[in-house]
Amino acid sequence: MNQASNRRAGDISVETAHIFPIIKKWLYSEKDIFLRELVSNAADAVTKHKRLISLGEIEGDDEAYRITVTVDKTAGTLTVSDNGIGMTEEEVSRYLGNIALSGALDFVSKYENEKEANASGIIGHFGLGFYSAFMVADTVEVVTRSYTGGDTIRWVCDTNGAYEFTEAPYALGRGTDIILHITEEEAEYLGAYKVRDMLDKYCSFMPTEIYFVDADQEDAEPETEGDSDAEPKTPAEPTPINDTTPLWQKAPSECTEEEYKDFYRKVFHDYREPLFHIHINADYPLNFKGILYFPRLNNEYESIEGQVKLYYNQVFVADNVGEVIPEYLLMLKGVLDCPELPLNVSRSYLQNNVYVSKVSAHIVKKVCDKLNSLCLNEREAYEGVWDSIKTFVEYACMRDRKFYDRVSDSLLFKLTDGKYVTTEEYFAPAEVVDDGTIRESAEKSERVVYYTSDPEGQAQYVSLFAAEGFRVAVLDKLIDSQFVQMYESYAGSGEKAVRFQRIDADVTALTKDGDVTESEALTTLYREVSGNEKLEVKFVPLKDESVPAMLTVSEQSRRMEEMMRMYAMQGGMGSMSSYPVDYTLTVNTAAPLTVKLMDLCESDSDKAKLIASQIYRLCLLSQRKLTAEELTAFLASGFDLLGKL
Ligand code: ADP
Repeated sequence: MNQASNRRAGDISVETAHIFPIIKKWLYSEKDIFLRELVSNAADAVTKHKRLISLGEIEGDDEAYRITVTVDKTAGTLTVSDNGIGMTEEEVSRYLGNIALSGALDFVSKYENEKEANASGIIGHFGLGFYSAFMVADTVEVVTRSYTGGDTIRWVCDTNGAYEFTEAPYALGRGTDIILHITEEEAEYLGAYKVRDMLDKYCSFMPTEIYFVDADQEDAEPETEGDSDAEPKTPAEPTPINDTTPLWQKAPSECTEEEYKDFYRKVFHDYREPLFHIHINADYPLNFKGILYFPRLNNEYESIEGQVKLYYNQVFVADNVGEVIPEYLLMLKGVLDCPELPLNVSRSYLQNNVYVSKVSAHIVKKVCDKLNSLCLNEREAYEGVWDSIKTFVEYACMRDRKFYDRVSDSLLFKLTDGKYVTTEEYFAPAEVVDDGTIRESAEKSERVVYYTSDPEGQAQYVSLFAAEGFRVAVLDKLIDSQFVQMYESYAGSGEKAVRFQRIDADVTALTKDGDVTESEALTTLYREVSGNEKLEVKFVPLKDESVPAMLTVSEQSRRMEEMMRMYAMQGGMGSMSSYPVDYTLTVNTAAPLTVKLMDLCESDSDKAKLIASQIYRLCLLSQRKLTAEELTAFLASGFDLLGKL
């Protein structure tokens, strides 16, 4: 029976013809998404069929669901086939013959001249998914047969929106073939690698098995002929290109460590093991799933650009969606599946969306929960990764006060002895150390964290503090000076107040009880040899008697100086700062050398001067590099001194 005669023809609609050129223009930059649209339509058709079975409306059969994407360079076609519900002629007319337009038209006329208008926004919003095929094709054929039976339908639509129903070239069991006749300009979409790449990007986790066929390759397959010894070739069982049940869809309790690692390797091609992961499974009302990984980085300076992929019901939507995940967590790598978002989301849509901000807040909470639970329950593992995550965590704290409030109990300080402590542990009550003396954690009246920014350069101070049983934190990263500032202000002035003090800022904590002899003569002498008339000279008895004097720079003064230097560097004024450093010389009255020097001030002022200048420069040396002038003088006085031995 010739059915063609009673087939209808027509135009999709006046409005649609109007829309076509606009779709093409707008979508220019994101052309690849047409394949995603068609394959997800195919996957939807399969899902609908499964649904009808599960609702008992139709009986199931043995046919495995599948989607096949075929490129045929010779024929100039790219075909997406599925065995989902298919369409009747009436449905084709209804669904593909016109677009529910009223809203879309308004939108289009409003933004027609706006080049930057976000193309994917409009497409998703008004269900133009199928029409995105016209970005690359001049003719689109749909061959389909509904699960309800009836004829196989063939519908052909050209680039102007004119369509006709004609006789189907072949009969289908059930399902739909969407055949794109690719235009000459878009011939790249007939390339097997190109199409495979697009499928990998957008369809790797779609819920229906997807097969890729390169028709030209298949045609070129050599026939098994002639050679009688050869085994008859059975074509290799094709394997789907996608994983239909991605790990994030499983319950966390059903996933193994190995699976998490494999998934990470597969998705991010990063062969360094991630530090740890967070599997989010948020139910109603948020309803989103995802796995986020803390990646392992080689060093502090490595690019911290992560990769968080956004999916919509297992269909890839976009990478690094800063709107869904706060900027300070973008170093994470992972996947998020948000079925509450439309498949085509524009950035501006995301920015103003309440759901999105809730998702973002939930992610932050989950990250904090994870850090807290690691700190509390897996302390050893947590300490093991702390050095790697410290910079991220500190940065996140600085960017978001809430983040800090949530994780403040899990922030660790690495101490000079290699141990890790939380702030509260740092201030834990005095403990008895090996030799029976009491370890003071800080001055009684104030909670002070002593730290070093350079354990090697400040080694002398470190050993003096350590000898007195003080815990010294290592804060030697670029970010630390800002972090310290922030920490003090966040901790406030209440009972949780914390003050940070670098160990070379003040050594009075190392003072022992006893009488103090101040010497004006020595003050004058030190001022003279230092060339600094205003040098502050303090006299205190230190517990360590081997050190005659120490130079310190008050914490505030040093921070100010660091800040000025940073500004100078940013302003391109080189690394030297003209901001004067306020040194304080702490003279140790308990040191025999000091006592001797005080005597020499009276008896042999030349010798006293020689010794004082040597002591001063040694002190200076443990603070900073000597200038050329200082070094020359230091060497000269050193040799002079040796000659006097
Ligand atoms: P959307 O998918 O957003 O609804 P489309 O323009 O992509 O918009 O598709 C319009 C409609 O056409 C779909 O809702 C569906 O009913 C029908 N359709 C499209 N592709 C298929 C397919 N492969 N199988 C069955 N129906 C389809």
